[in-house]
Amino acid sequence: MALERETVELLVQAVKICHFGNDRLGLHNREWMVLRFLSRANRFSRTPSAVAALTGTTRATASQIVKILEAKSYLARRPSKRDGRSTTLVVTSQGEKLLALHDPLNGLLDAITSLIPEECLRLRDSLGKILNRIDTADRQPAVGACRDCMFLAETGIKRPSHGRARTNMELRCRLHRALIPAGEVDLLCTTFVRATATGREPA
Ligand code: SF4
Repeated sequence: MALERETVELLVQAVKICHFGNDRLGLHNREWMVLRFLSRANRFSRTPSAVAALTGTTRATASQIVKILEAKSYLARRPSKRDGRSTTLVVTSQGEKLLALHDPLNGLLDAITSLIPEECLRLRDSLGKILNRIDTADRQPAVGACRDCMFLAETGIKRPSHGRARTNMELRCRLHRALIPAGEVDLLCTTFVRATATGREPA
């Protein structure tokens, strides 16, 4: 068990890097987490209710976090393209610049980037397996990308081509009943359910 315990200790130390006591540049842990998440979130998760799901708080607390980020001009609300009555949260260029230069996780990212690609791949796969087991055991809501989600499906769409019907394969989200363009499969989502947790292998 010594090896396993040592691994857990190292994981705890890595997690501590992500959580600091006081604020950094005027933002607390949760505000950094929300800004970071929204900079990589898909269109279904750029909403105040997704922020509440991500942070495990109420809508009121999530709105407070959003207001703080808006007041500092790191975040803006835009009318939703999917539903004119709701708003989409967009990270401003100032917010993107803040993340690029000062995100407290940048040090960890740099350290992982310095690994050779095989090491990085092994680390990612091992952490994925660990989270998969924890998801299954505790049924914790998780955040992840379409690529690994049980709701992603590949469907054949018939399109006319030079007078003949041709079948194109497209990716769809079975939960949101929407097409997922190839460029969006790696964006983060709060309604994600890990595919392997339910038996389907990731796409
Ligand atoms: S496939 Fe999964 S991760 Fe992608 S939008 Fe649908 S629920 Fe979210």
